[in-house]
Amino acid sequence: MAFAITQTCCADASCVSVCPVNCIHPTPDEPDFGTTDMLYVDPATCIDCGACADACPVDAIFPAGDLTGPLQVYEEINAEFYTGRDVLAEATVAPNFHRWSPPAFGRVLPSDFAALDVAVVGTGPAGMYAVEDLLLHTNSRVTLIDRLATAGGLIRYGVAPDHPSTKKIGETFARFHDHPRLRLRLGVEAGPELAERHDAVIYAVGATEARRLGVPGEDLRGSLPAATVVGWYNGHPEIAPGAVDLSAERVVVVGSGNVALDIARILTASPESLAGTSIAPAALARLKSSKVREVVLLARRGPADAAYTRSELLALAARGDLVVDAHDPRVAAEIDAGEGKAGLLRGVPREEVDWSSPPPDGGRRVVLRFHSSPLEFTGDTEVRGVRVTGDVEIVAGRVVRAAGFRGAPVPGLPFDEATGTVPNTAGRVEPGTYVAGWIKRGPSGGIGANKACARETVGALLEDAVAGRLRTRRRGLLRRA
Ligand SMILES: Cc1cc2nc3c(=O)[nH]c(=O)nc-3n(C[C@H](O)[C@H](O)[C@H](O)COP(=O)(O)OP(=O)(O)OC[C@H]3O[C@@H](n4cnc5c(N)ncnc54)[C@H](O)[C@@H]3O)c2cc1C
Ligand code: SF4
Ligand code: SF4
Repeated sequence: MAFAITQTCCADASCVSVCPVNCIHPTPDEPDFGTTDMLYVDPATCIDCGACADACPVDAIFPAGDLTGPLQVYEEINAEFYTGRDVLAEATVAPNFHRWSPPAFGRVLPSDFAALDVAVVGTGPAGMYAVEDLLLHTNSRVTLIDRLATAGGLIRYGVAPDHPSTKKIGETFARFHDHPRLRLRLGVEAGPELAERHDAVIYAVGATEARRLGVPGEDLRGSLPAATVVGWYNGHPEIAPGAVDLSAERVVVVGSGNVALDIARILTASPESLAGTSIAPAALARLKSSKVREVVLLARRGPADAAYTRSELLALAARGDLVVDAHDPRVAAEIDAGEGKAGLLRGVPREEVDWSSPPPDGGRRVVLRFHSSPLEFTGDTEVRGVRVTGDVEIVAGRVVRAAGFRGAPVPGLPFDEATGTVPNTAGRVEPGTYVAGWIKRGPSGGIGANKACARETVGALLEDAVAGRLRTRRRGLLRRA
């Protein structure tokens, strides 16, 4: 019986290097690694050693035989990844063995490499992967700062409270907070003095500004950006405990990415199932008295290429309260054809919903409406509904805008308004100034994607250090001072 990777995998590839038989793929040097949501164990090759499960920071790996409930399907999902692959072509030793990549020694530092003083701004995944790389692979001294009094970035204030295994990666990062070569400064804004006191500064400040939809009524009362709802249920210090009013029976969430699914899941979860999680007490209390009976997810694309990942949809569908709006014949056709992610919805009930009426009585539910974009938020001062493509008005008392994030300008750094990122080359803004994570590459990709991203940035920094570009810069700064 092989091991299998399950729902919470964030594709950080920690398991790849510990597997003695190279049976976890795609590996970071394989082409599909950049687009995969998760990694997969080849059951034909796995020797059941369990090393990967020990290495996984989010407890995503289990013996396939131990999987129960909604996780059982992951045995098949792991195996499917290898179905149809030409295992013989990949074989080096025997048919069941995958080819090992040639060894790569990408980064070599001179033996007399002097210790650097590096400031890392941001304690989210990108900042922490950069810190890990610097502390474990160089003799650098690191000053780690965050504007918030609690470290963790979106691990703490973004990841949903009903994903405790994912939040656990925060513990893996926090073990560096006490490192003897690290000074942690929380509740501190990045300022220009950082550059004067350090050889280099890495900005890993994230990208959590709401992307505007550009539709009339977007700013009506009752229209909330996703970051407000997510921050509210995670107890973000800058979001008031009463920021999310749940007195409406129907909430429309514009977007169908994983953040939209998180919000739909939390707003329709039974409060009992959230008690005992890290949810903010005020949010839990409000959910207990919530009037919300229906959350509608508006997906611009069809079910075959919806924005959510397969694992998040499977988790939502497993609750049994998901419905697909059958308003458009393309929806049923795509689901029946089973292309891409559409096949995941085969067992989900379809219904032509009457949007002019209140949601049906009974329990809470989530309705997925595909091929549908908002044209206007209706209402005078407060949201009354959303007019969507096809000139249908969905009557709803609250709207959440979860159509993506963008970065905010960082004082003193260039900024690309079009992408909402800091322009950079492999993380280098200029010698001595670097970016990593969402502010570098834009707001996409899970936690694990920030590992390779931060590694590339630290690589650029070390290249500049070896070439003498940092010391020159610092001497220049000191002369000017
Ligand atoms: C709602 C939500 C849920 C998610 N859930 C998952 C999930 O379940 N699984 C998964 O794999 N991925 C998830 N992701 C994606 C994941 O969180 C991101 O890939 C990751 O957090 C990006 O890391 P980052 O370090 O670039 O940014 P962040 O995590 O946002 O960290 C940025 C840090 O910089 C700090 N900062 C900002 N400006 C300053 C300043 N001027 N001075 C000092 N400090 C500053 C912030 O306070 C913050 O701590 C989620 C994302 C969101 C938005
Ligand atoms: S159990 Fe061992 S052999 Fe199987 S995938 Fe994990 S590390 Fe590889
Ligand atoms: S989270 Fe990382 S270690 Fe865990 S299964 Fe996914 S890639 Fe492997």
